[in-house]
Amino acid sequence: MNLFVNIPRLLGYRRILVSSVQTLRCMVFGLGNKTYEHYNAVAIYLDKRLQELGATQVYELGLGDDDANIEDDFITWKEKFWPAVCEKFNIESTGEEELTRQFHLVTHAPDEILPTNVFTGEIARLHSLQVQRPPYDAKNPFLAQITVNRELHKGGDRSCIHVELDISDSKMRYEAGDHVAVYPINDTNLVERLGQLTNANLDEIFSLVNTDQESSKKHPFPCPTSYRTALSHYVEITALPRTHILRELVEYCSEEEDKKKLMLMATNSQEGKAMYQSFIVEACRNIVHILEDVPSCKPPLDHLCELLPRLQPRYYSISSSPKLYPETVHITAVVVQYKTPTGRLNKGVTTTWLADNKPEPGKPLPRVPVFIRKSQFRLPLQSQTPIIMVGPGTGLAPFRGFLQERAHARANGKEVGDNILYFGCRHRDQDYIYQDELEKYEGNGDVKLNLAFSRDQKEKIYVTHLLEKRMDELWDVIGNRNGHFYICGDAKNMAVDVRNIVLRAIQEKGGRSESEAVQFIKKLESMKKYSADVWS
Ligand code: FAD
Repeated sequence: MNLFVNIPRLLGYRRILVSSVQTLRCMVFGLGNKTYEHYNAVAIYLDKRLQELGATQVYELGLGDDDANIEDDFITWKEKFWPAVCEKFNIESTGEEELTRQFHLVTHAPDEILPTNVFTGEIARLHSLQVQRPPYDAKNPFLAQITVNRELHKGGDRSCIHVELDISDSKMRYEAGDHVAVYPINDTNLVERLGQLTNANLDEIFSLVNTDQESSKKHPFPCPTSYRTALSHYVEITALPRTHILRELVEYCSEEEDKKKLMLMATNSQEGKAMYQSFIVEACRNIVHILEDVPSCKPPLDHLCELLPRLQPRYYSISSSPKLYPETVHITAVVVQYKTPTGRLNKGVTTTWLADNKPEPGKPLPRVPVFIRKSQFRLPLQSQTPIIMVGPGTGLAPFRGFLQERAHARANGKEVGDNILYFGCRHRDQDYIYQDELEKYEGNGDVKLNLAFSRDQKEKIYVTHLLEKRMDELWDVIGNRNGHFYICGDAKNMAVDVRNIVLRAIQEKGGRSESEAVQFIKKLESMKKYSADVWS
């Protein structure tokens, strides 16, 4: 969660802060997501606490919800926030919007710069991908070899891949339940197309330099670099552009119609919002599509590079256990691909790149920058503790690691509690991933499987239906046997529905009232006995 708050380094200077907070004038805008239980909790707390300590609130707390339209929330808040600021600080506003660039362009002639001084996709340190040095983290990822990359689906038109990354030379350690972050590379065809649409020479070396010389952020991404590298490694070119980018694009349209259209979408009016919703959101238009469909718009590529958000690593729940695979990390990922209403095929950046990079005989193994992020999603310390895992689709990922770990413990003579798994997919013969492994575990008594194949019969059956039917067992595990309950996968619907079933089980089987059931789950959460690893 990020906050816009008018105090520097809030946490490190508590004592100084308390004494100076009475003179502080502040406003807080929180960036959150309503699918998470503690929606914008930090922003709400901070706003309240600052006022308790005597700070003056210049304008009311704003809350952004990334599950809906966070930019819309911010713009709506900003429209009232500016007049409040002007009034408070006695500033006269001209009412005119001024567009200023934060970075200026410096181009480097080929004879001016040594090729070894040019960034080629490193995240922070020059040559960090050629000369690898631990420790590895978000700024210094490890270039892992892809040793295995295979399709898990046996049919249907969707794809889910199993990828194994070799981390043996990295000194990176992981535990079952951790996440691996993957730095993707944008599709070469889209990069080329963006070069064509902006009439740019993609091999030109350039730097974007902050116009504010005192800023700690000198460049928006590692510079100097080529446009090709910037578009491939440093900026998101497939995300749907936010309205402030459309506003900037207005300046580069030669046709009045195009100007009007972009300007309208950048405004906060009902008509503008509706048009943004249909032209950008519903039509899934990225920057390439916008420049194709608004043909008189010809922005300079350096300004686009400044405007587009930084390309982010994607996280994956590790689907292996270090007990079995100390030297590799496994990923289980659905390949994102969908047709848009304009007839285009949109592809997920990371999953498409991964799907396209399979080891081939006689060729060096493909390599990808990664780092490991510790998570709170952990097996119980005692192997005897029973566990229930609910993980439809790729929600199975961390539970594959959990099962490996618990089966390994059992094979080594440890007493292991029940492993109850709820897995769901569309068809048993198409997308039942890791079927052989799961059935082998079941045959050995390492797991009790509850399977929901939603489209194998007339009526849809999901994991939630199975869970509802087994509320006695659910309560027995979490209420009587001190067990742990885990959910992984879709945050939006599944995780909420599962939580509601657990609440019902606590009431109906555990004889608690509604509010007691809520408290019961909260207690389980605080003791790490109810854990969710979910994403939307
Ligand atoms: P992107 O380029 O990021 O594109 C994805 C975006 O495309 C979506 O956000 C959505 O806006 C849009 N989109 C997708 N489908 C459609 C559609 N039909 N119509 C319109 N728009 C659409 N994923 C896994 O597969 N396995 C995991 O184990 C896993 N674990 C995760 C763990 C965590 C903690 C988190 C946060 C996420 C996890 N994810 C997992 C999701 C993963 O991080 C990526 O978001 C996912 O793989 C897509 O990345 P991408 O770069 O291929 O697609």
